[in-house]
Order: sequence, then C-alpha cells, then structure tokens
Amino acid sequence: MTVHYQVHTDVAVLTLDLPPVNSLGLAMRQALAAGLQRAQDEPQVQAIVLTGAGKAFSGGADITEFGHDAAFAEPNLHTLIAMVEGCSKPVVAALHSVCMGGGLELALACHYRMATPDCKLGLPEVKLGLLPGAGGTQRLPRALGVEPALNMIVSGEPVAAALLAQVPGQKLLTQLATSAATLLDEAVALARSVASVRPLPLVAALRARHPQGDAYFQFARNMVKGMAKHFPAPAKCVDAVQAATQQKITDGLATERDLFLQLMFTPESRALRHLFFAERAASKIPDVPANTPLRAIESVAVIGAGMMGGGIAMNFLNAGVPVKLLETKQEALERGVATIRKNYEGQLAKGKLTQDKYAQRMALLSTTLDYADLKDADLVIEAVFEDMAVKQAVFTQLDAVAKPGAILASNTSTLDLNQIAAFTQRPQDVVGLHFFSPANVMKLLEVVRGAKTANDVLATAMAVAKKIRKTAVLSGVCDGFIGNRMIERYSQQAGFLLDEGCTPEQVDKAAEQFGFAMGPFRMSDLAGNDIGWAIRKRRAIERPDIRYSKTADLLCEQGRFGQKTGAGWYDYLPGKRNAIPNADVVAMIAANRQAQGITPRQIADEEIVQRLVFSLVNEAAHILEEGIATKASDIDVVYIFGYGFPVHRGGPLCYANEVGLFNVVAAMQRFANNPLDDAAFWQPAPLLQRLVAEGKSF
Ligand code: NAD
Repeated sequence: MTVHYQVHTDVAVLTLDLPPVNSLGLAMRQALAAGLQRAQDEPQVQAIVLTGAGKAFSGGADITEFGHDAAFAEPNLHTLIAMVEGCSKPVVAALHSVCMGGGLELALACHYRMATPDCKLGLPEVKLGLLPGAGGTQRLPRALGVEPALNMIVSGEPVAAALLAQVPGQKLLTQLATSAATLLDEAVALARSVASVRPLPLVAALRARHPQGDAYFQFARNMVKGMAKHFPAPAKCVDAVQAATQQKITDGLATERDLFLQLMFTPESRALRHLFFAERAASKIPDVPANTPLRAIESVAVIGAGMMGGGIAMNFLNAGVPVKLLETKQEALERGVATIRKNYEGQLAKGKLTQDKYAQRMALLSTTLDYADLKDADLVIEAVFEDMAVKQAVFTQLDAVAKPGAILASNTSTLDLNQIAAFTQRPQDVVGLHFFSPANVMKLLEVVRGAKTANDVLATAMAVAKKIRKTAVLSGVCDGFIGNRMIERYSQQAGFLLDEGCTPEQVDKAAEQFGFAMGPFRMSDLAGNDIGWAIRKRRAIERPDIRYSKTADLLCEQGRFGQKTGAGWYDYLPGKRNAIPNADVVAMIAANRQAQGITPRQIADEEIVQRLVFSLVNEAAHILEEGIATKASDIDVVYIFGYGFPVHRGGPLCYANEVGLFNVVAAMQRFANNPLDDAAFWQPAPLLQRLVAEGKSF
C-alpha cells in the first residue's frame, strides 16, 4: 500500500507511505490519483488532506525513473498536479519533516498548505543539473515572491517552514502547525473550515512580479554565471522564473517544460545524476550483504600523531568519538596535540566552531606513550612512518594488546596491506583506511580490503566512514590502490608533455580549463615533488621498464620540492599559494629536451587534456578488470572526491563514456604512434578493447 485512505467524518486523509521518503514513483502516483478520485466520489467527504507517513511528506520524484519510460507513464506528475488543482473539493497539504522537489510541486498545487515549523521545503533539482519540471519554477514565485523563490530554486537548498512563513506577503504556507504531533488534527480542522469556500484558491491564479523586472533578472543571471560556470542549469532556472513573471501560467509551464528537457539531455546533468547514484552505491560492497552485523565503534586509538594522525583523530573528535593518540615520544605527542589545537583555533577564529564545541572535542582527546592503554579501543588506526619495519613493530605490539574483535587499520598509502596483516595473529581484523591529506578536510576514504579481511570489518569500516562524513570506496590491495595508482600514469604523461614542448604552465592551464581544480604541476607542488621522486627511485629498481620524463628528477635535485620549500615547478611567496612561473625551470626543461635531441612542437590543449585524462581511463580499466575496484562508478567517486576531477564531467569513466570508448581508444592509438610518447603506455587495457568491440561503455 503506497497511499492510505481514511475518512475522518467529513474529511478524507490521504497518507503517502513509501519508505524512506514517500517518493513519487509510478505506483505512488497511481495510488494518489485513485485516492483523489475516491474522495471526490464519496458524498460525505467535504475536503481532503494530503500528508506523508514516516520521515517525510515527500522527498520528491523517484530519480531511479529518470531516463526511463516510468518517469513519463501516466498518471505523470503533471497529470497528478492538474488533478489536485482541478479537484472539486478543497485539498490541504499537511507538511512535516521534508517536502522536496516534486513533493513541493505537488503541495503547491493544493489549495491550502500547512507545515510544522521545522519542516524543510526545497527544490533541489539544480543539484542534479536540472530545474524543477513540474511547475515549481512557475508556482513557487507566485506563492512566495520572486526573489526568495529564485534563491531557493538556484541554490537547491531547503528552507525551514518557520522562516518561509515570515516572508512578507507569502501565500506558500496558509498556516504553521503547532507541532508534528498535532499536524494532522490541525490540518483536518483547517480542511473542515474551508470546506465550503468557492472558488478554490489556486497558486496558479496568483501573479509573480518583481519591481525591477529585467534588471533584477540580468543581475541574477550574472551572479549564477560567476558561481556555476561549468553548469547550465542555474541560468536556465533564472530564465524559467523570469517566465513566471512574464507569461500566463499555461505558457510559463510550457517554457519550464522546454527548459527542463533541454537540461535533461546535457552531459552536465547526466554527470551529476551519475554521481548521485555513484556516491550512494560506493558504500555497497557486492559480496558483503547489506544486513551484515556491524562491530560497535565507540572508542578509537590513533598511532602516530604526525600530519595524517592528527587529521584522522580530528574526524572522530568532530563526530563525538573519544580518541587516544599514541606516539613514541612525549614531544611528538605534544606537537600532535598542538597542531590539532591550532586547527580548531583557526576554525574558532573564522566563526566555524563555537567555544563550547571546541572544548567538547578537546575533552574527547587523550594521549599515551604506552600500548597497554589501547586495550579498550574498538578501532585502532595506524599512521606512523611509511616503512615496513616500523609498521611491523606497531602491528606486533597491537596484536599483543588490542582486545579481541578490535579493528586494526593501517593508513599506509604504498605498502602491502596483506604483509601488514600477517604481522598479526588476526588478519581478518586488519583493514586499510587510506585517508587523504589533509585528513580532516578531504572527503575521500579508500577502504582497503586485505586478502583475509572479514566482511563485518568491511561493513563496519563503511559505517564508520559515514559517521565521520567521508565518502568511502572499496579498493583491493595493489600499489597505490585506486587513486594513486591512476594518478601515477597521469603524472607520467604530464612529464612526457614537457619533454615534447609544453611548459608546466601550459599543461596546468589546459587541465584547469577542462575543469580540474589544479593542473598536474600545481598539484605536485602542493603534495610535494619529493613524494613522486621517492616512488620513481623505488620503481627504477622494481620496474626498470617503466619510462618517466627526467625533468621531475632534475627539479628535485635542485631541492625544488614545491610549496613547502617555496619553489617547485613554480615559485611561491612566503605564506602564499599562487604559482608564479619560473624562467629557470622552463629553461631547465628546454635544456633537457635539447639534450635528448627533441625538437619542441606546439601541443594543442585538446591533446594535452586527452593524454592526461585517457591515461587515467586506461589504468582504471586495468583496475576494474583486476577487481581492485568493484565497479566503474567507484573510480569516478575516487577521482571526484579525492583528486579534484571536474564534477560536471562526472569522473574519468563517466567522461570516457560521454566521449565514446571507440573514440577514446582511437585517440590512444594515435598517441601510441607518437615516437616521443610511449607505445606500451597506450596499449589499451583488455577490458577497454572488449567494451569497444561489444559497443558498450563502462
Ligand atoms: P608523519 O611523518 O607526518 O607522521 C608520522 C608520525 O608517526 C610521526 O609523528 C612519528 O613520530 C610517528 N611514529 C613513527 N613511528 C612510530 C611508532 N613506532 N609508534 C608511534 N608513532 C610513531 O607522516 P604522515 O604523512 O602523517 O604519514 C603517516 C602514514 O600515513 C604513512 O603510512 C603514509 O604513507 C600515510 N599517508 C600519508 C599521506 C600524506 O599525504 N602525507 C596520505 C595518505 C596516507
């Protein structure tokens, strides 16, 4: 049953009931249409109340229907809205908890609306690269006023009913309910009191006006262009709301429909919808059942109070979980705690944290030099030096003191997790939790599954990630896991581009134009060029067949490690992060080119971007095929949340699908024929070849 039908003497109450959020899929729409018809047919019913069971009035459209026939199947949302507006008896919407998207559009079609003060109302479609397509852009400005409506539509942010009720002249909310407990009774009473009012009031019959008209909309258009330059939806929202002020409701609805359909087929909207599902899918592990019992995590210990350990600890303190920090020396502990304090004080100064919260968080932090103090921890996260001997010492001691069932996690970025697990007698309890720097800020967490990691440890790790507000992705064990393994290929290409004729600035600009938060050289300067240097030295021994440009090594030999030394691919002024091109670096690159007998050529931005991005795509295909990632969308999540890949492109694999895998492989073959590039590098991964042969995408 998706809609309950109950008659309270003379008022019919239709209750949407489809957990979790009463979304308006086909079955719900059918049941609502039937309920409305029945209420009109029954003579004792004088008025109707629409409300929602559980945690929402309605969260809106069922977005799993997007792009499928079910979304348009009758009764579609438009038809349902027309039925409500044309109902022969008054309809009162009784709103609580959340009323979003299509849910709000449905409520706007009702003759009266009542809401609990804390009910959140919003039109979040813009976050999926769309605009509200069932009258929201036409009715909300009429009901609430043009400016507040446009703000809600362009931002997609929900607003509490109590605030909306204060908007001068608003007709969105007929009345605020006293509380959730009394909402239904109050709504039934309201319905009864208006049972004989005719004609029935319609939002559609109101007028939306703005005193400054054109000037205001031009201003709004400029604003959204600046704020969301890669996204077409916000500007179209402005167009739609302007139409509400200029056109009759029927014409305005047609304009809205037109704009909605234009957006529906943009790559930006496809990317955002892809990411919406990808993020939700990331925490689901194919062979770990959703009902796997979780281990309780009520206290955490962090070993190593360095750069990563401190940030990791803060995540848990922020979530209200007590943390014990362990170090080898008192000074190191004090340094670690001081850094945490400094971070919080920075937030305090910016007004992002209250004194109270700061005190609460610091009170959850304790320190120790003694492993015996870790015996009660439910989860221990190791963040000590990246050295197998040090990891061995730590895990051997942990194994001796940790309580049975405690989860033992390592934050290693490059070492073999299976070897680390083997230092203990309980490899099933060992898991990788690969945080990204700065660990208290970056959203991404790679959960690394060792050969013996137990299912309930993985399920618990995913739940812990959620608790500390990280987006977690499962990775198998390999060098670099998903993200760093891919970025190494990308950096390799960036180096080849220098050898062939580019400057770091040209490569970075092309990547940033494409939408990357930072190009490869600015990013390397931020992360520290010495990190890649160390990896290349190791590779030279393990994998002498892998080719790198020599320029990065030459740079490091000059001590240009990046922002931390004030000099890298660029120069940096003290305390500043602006990258200033350096003529000596450019000359060094040219000299190296000359020494290799390479005649530089002009390389187009398009080639730069394709070489960078398709290097990611090819490595991703290997990662998928090897089962290191369990689904393609996980790889997109890693790149969006951990590496600044442009959101409007949906991640490297979503982008490759947009380009078409046939075209991706064709470009790779062109690059392979470039004698200055690396033919082996561009050998398409078998999975990629197979997908092209079968005409499929990732
Ligand atoms: P760091 O040098 O800043 O901190 C390491 C800390 O561990 C130091 O404070 C040190 O005193 C302490 N330590 C060393 N041996 C110890 C022991 N036996 N017992 C207790 N404490 C000990 O290093 P970091 O950058 O924080 O890296 C820590 C781990 O995180 C490494 O495994 C690294 O690969 C991984 N990691 C680093 C980054 C990054 O960007 N820095 C990102 C992801 C993962």
